[in-house]
Amino acid sequence: MSECIFCKIVEKKITATILYEDELMIAFRDINPVAPDHILFIPKKHIESFGHFTEKEETLIGKFSVRIAKFAKEKGFDKKGYRIVTNIGAEAGQTVFHLHYHLLAGRNFEWPPG
Ligand code: 5GP
Ligand code: ZN
Repeated sequence: MSECIFCKIVEKKITATILYEDELMIAFRDINPVAPDHILFIPKKHIESFGHFTEKEETLIGKFSVRIAKFAKEKGFDKKGYRIVTNIGAEAGQTVFHLHYHLLAGRNFEWPPG
């Protein structure tokens, strides 16, 4: 059985505040938000990180990206701006090794990031 915490959220073995779900992906609120809106988007398929994409995932990546953009527009995040972040590897800050995009919105963000 998978020990991956995000696979467990997909399987509903761990509860999360799910905001969107379809056959490919789910979106849920981060348990430790760093912005007024902090939402995680994950594919249901276990892929370790952005760095593990192969040609096999080209369709998934396209649909995943378009659906995140649509979600952000429907929620109105595009009006003021929002940030999409994905950490790849421990030095970049990845702590859960199931691909996820953070959507951060609701405050000003600095550049460069910390
Ligand atoms: P990373 O550090 O890998 O880029 O991001 C992992 C994120 O997952 C963190 O922001 C962390 O707060 C969030 N997280 C970790 N465990 C859980 C959980 O069980 N439920 C939810 N909703 N978020 C989690
Ligand atoms: Zn997983």
